Amino acid sequence: MKKLLIATGNQDKVAEIKEKYRDLKFEILSPEELKLDFAVAETGSTLEENALLKARAGAEKTGLLTLADDTGLAVEALNGRPGVYSARFAGPDASYQDNNRHLLELMKDIPAERRQAAFCTVAALVDPERNLEVTVEGRLEGRILTEFRGERGFGYDPVFYLPERGKSLAELSLEEKNAVSHRARALEKMKSRLKEIYHQTE
Ligand code: IMP
Repeated sequence: MKKLLIATGNQDKVAEIKEKYRDLKFEILSPEELKLDFAVAETGSTLEENALLKARAGAEKTGLLTLADDTGLAVEALNGRPGVYSARFAGPDASYQDNNRHLLELMKDIPAERRQAAFCTVAALVDPERNLEVTVEGRLEGRILTEFRGERGFGYDPVFYLPERGKSLAELSLEEKNAVSHRARALEKMKSRLKEIYHQTE
């Protein structure tokens, strides 16, 4: 069976992808399972560049088909920030809570009708044997709350409101979140591409 490396140190992402792709004929592996030390400097200026940097690094190290992703939050009233800097919005060692506080503080005078935002995930696939690179994007539209809501999830989930659900992302169960999330949408698109490229049927 063809191997597929998930170039991330985040075990939750590996688990989500293993579950989503379980019906594909790939042996899905993490850097941890291959005893690889995986840290790539995310020096790109776009999500796509960073996702490709990570996927190329994995493919170069192992020679395997490699998948990576990169996610950012784009807030309209902040001209798309924090975007590619979402993990370090409040500073280099910022916690999720620091980033959320920083965001709410910056937006404290922005009225309800101008609080639109979107999560965007770019997934990148690199096949070193075929010299092939594929990227796809998944988005989730919502708005930024004025205070924290909900205990679940991670990152910006407690300040990201989904109008159609009447809830923040941190108020959804993991299952509910994974059914609508930006990352899930990108991974679904990539699943279709994997099926096409490697001629897999369910
Ligand atoms: P990464 O590219 O998946 O590591 O994401 C970069 C940053 O975006 C994270 O450090 C989080 O702050 C934020 N982020 C990514 N995915 C999510 C999500 O599903 N919910 C909330 N924040 C997220």
